[in-house]
Amino acid sequence: MTTMPTTDFVPQVLDGTKWENIEPLLNTLLEREVNSKEELEQWILDRSELEAAIGESGANTYIDMTCDTGNEDKQAAYTSFITTVVPKVKPVSFELDKKMKALCEQYGLTSDRFEVLFRDTAADVDLFRQENVSIETELAQLDQEYDKICGAMTVEHDGEEKTMPMMGKYFESADRSVREDAWRKVAKRRLEDAEKISAIYDDMVQKRQTVAKNAGFDNFIGYAFKSKHRVDYTPEMCHAFHDAIEKHVMPFVAKLDASRKEQLGLDELRPWDLAVDPKNRAALEPFNGGKDLVGKTQKVFDKLSPELSAFFASMGDGSNTQGTANGAMLDLDSRKGKAPGGYLYFRDRSKLPFIFMNAAGQHRDVETMVHEAGHAFHAMYCNDEPYVWYRSAPLEYAEVASMSMELLTMPYWDAYYPNEEDANRARRKQLEGSISLLPWIATIDAFQHWVYANPTHSREERANAWLDIENRFGHQGHVVNWDGLEQERKHVWQRQGHLFGVPFYYIEYGIAQLGALGFYLISLEQGEEAALAAYKKSMALGGSQPLPKLFEAAGLPFDFGDETVGRLVERVQTELDKLPE
Ligand SMILES: [Zn+2]
Repeated sequence: MTTMPTTDFVPQVLDGTKWENIEPLLNTLLEREVNSKEELEQWILDRSELEAAIGESGANTYIDMTCDTGNEDKQAAYTSFITTVVPKVKPVSFELDKKMKALCEQYGLTSDRFEVLFRDTAADVDLFRQENVSIETELAQLDQEYDKICGAMTVEHDGEEKTMPMMGKYFESADRSVREDAWRKVAKRRLEDAEKISAIYDDMVQKRQTVAKNAGFDNFIGYAFKSKHRVDYTPEMCHAFHDAIEKHVMPFVAKLDASRKEQLGLDELRPWDLAVDPKNRAALEPFNGGKDLVGKTQKVFDKLSPELSAFFASMGDGSNTQGTANGAMLDLDSRKGKAPGGYLYFRDRSKLPFIFMNAAGQHRDVETMVHEAGHAFHAMYCNDEPYVWYRSAPLEYAEVASMSMELLTMPYWDAYYPNEEDANRARRKQLEGSISLLPWIATIDAFQHWVYANPTHSREERANAWLDIENRFGHQGHVVNWDGLEQERKHVWQRQGHLFGVPFYYIEYGIAQLGALGFYLISLEQGEEAALAAYKKSMALGGSQPLPKLFEAAGLPFDFGDETVGRLVERVQTELDKLPE
């Protein structure tokens, strides 16, 4: 056992949203002389702590902004952070990266423990261009604008003003006219802002092309791969993933669609027929309000694992909402003025997670809850890691942590569904979803490859590219009738926030879903304890190892082509056949 290295370089309390508070610390690091390997390790640790502190300050302003997009002060605090602090930190960070890279080479800290850190730092040094800093800021502001437009969308329904996430449950209504009415209202409301959103995206694509050019790339694809530190796989491997999905998953989806049409007794499926239970049963009602969701989820983890149960309990009971005030770690219920989606933000210094959701009482909120909890567990397993950069894994593995929880918790879903029939219905949905989600991932990934390979495209060309890709991977080209909804169909991509805020972040979900299904297979073949042990072992590595090693630590293949996809689809089909209807 080695003793844990320590640092007191950063004051216990530091408001990292103020440049004047962090500038002197950054300068101290920049100017400090490093004369030995030990001094270098201390320097790295001190830098890590400062980055954690700045990151945490930024995280809190982001969380509070997304929890209350209508609040001017919170918007301003976030805007101030991204426009005054981040652009000033970036050039200094670049100087620190250069210093760190050179010192690591000088003192031989480039392999083993330092391999990933050195490799990633070297990539960042190669990519940095001063002229890109202000463009990155503009991109973050455009994304904020997109979030604001989406967060403000509401429709009148059932005599009330409803947010878009709140409308989701009507798509599951057994009454076809109810779901058609809800679907049309939502689509119409989204179309009202379609041009505004297209303009934001046009602007983003151009800015990203400029960023890539400035760094010496022909287009944004190569830049994105390098800046995401994707050195363990290539665009060609992404295309192999697309092909494998087309070959193994599209037949699976076609079978599901055909049986859905038959079970619903319809001549044809329309876009509002895809979320409803195929047997036309009423929507599942797993919980009532965020607090109830937390209580039931606690019961699930109590049964799955004492360790995960304690982790989950440490986040509170969900009764304290509205941003980070009073040390809250959960803000779950949907309300007007919340940004869309759900996320887990792990605050690097206090090591406290924050789970953000737009829960509205649906089954998919259950999935999101256990998913985000999985991210929190991953971070908690890495709590003792001294380097902030190693306290999180690359997204391809980070999402394994969360998606595995969607599958491994399934045996205990009686906490949400005391009735066995409901529980099995939810499990079927989960298993089907774990496979039928893959074509959407391929769609979003293939779309981005197209967008950034053709940066001078027109809106019309983009719409056509979208439709082509959808014909390859969607239900649409085969069995769903979109007659009279051409405008709506062309703009479906606008709902996918990742395209705006985190370009090329999506294939990770596909790679990770295959990893999560790998854990599920371990639980089936070797038992739950073996799966949880492999989970813990690999998650505790955080990001300290290259991606293929993280998969290896769990006993999973690092492959997302034909063989792995084929094997997993077949096994899930077998499990589905065993589930009582
Ligand atoms: Zn996730």
